[in-house]
Amino acid sequence: MELKQAKAEALKILRKAGIVLTPEEKKKFAAVDFGLGRIKEIGLEMLVYVNTPRYCAKELVLLPRQTCPEHLHPKIDESNPGKQETFRCRWGTVYLYVPGPPTPKINASIPKGKEQYFTVRHEVILRPGQQYTLPPQTLHWFQAGPRGAVVSEFSSMSIDSKDIFTDPEIQEWRKKAPVIDEVQTIA
Ligand code: ZN
Repeated sequence: MELKQAKAEALKILRKAGIVLTPEEKKKFAAVDFGLGRIKEIGLEMLVYVNTPRYCAKELVLLPRQTCPEHLHPKIDESNPGKQETFRCRWGTVYLYVPGPPTPKINASIPKGKEQYFTVRHEVILRPGQQYTLPPQTLHWFQAGPRGAVVSEFSSMSIDSKDIFTDPEIQEWRKKAPVIDEVQTIA
């Protein structure tokens, strides 16, 4: 599957979820494969609605069983402890993994060959209308259920370039990845 196809599939899921995007937003809506070339399994589709030094809102779409790989949002400086984020499931099912006692039989299937880069295994299941808030500096990863998922993300300022991924291959890609969450200034 190509990025273009992933984007088209994700737009279909948004439509099913009843979430309306303007034509400009549809153009900006992007599929991200974290440089691994395995978009069907590892990646996500997203739109940044707003990202300012004070807050950020995004829509995330996951195709069926698609996984956002494990990462954390580090402390930036003395005045910024790192991004805090709330995920609210709007449609479908999301299996979210955070630090804590490992869940004996998790619902997600971990992408082959990448098992060691999915280290937190405490499962939180989010269905439409359920949300979960991650403190800064907390490892997390998530996967959609069999129909895919739509997740609204509310957070403090997003600086993707600072995110730390567990998979070194993604960290390598990060260095040259395009910035999609450019911080806007509101006049
Ligand atoms: Zn995150």
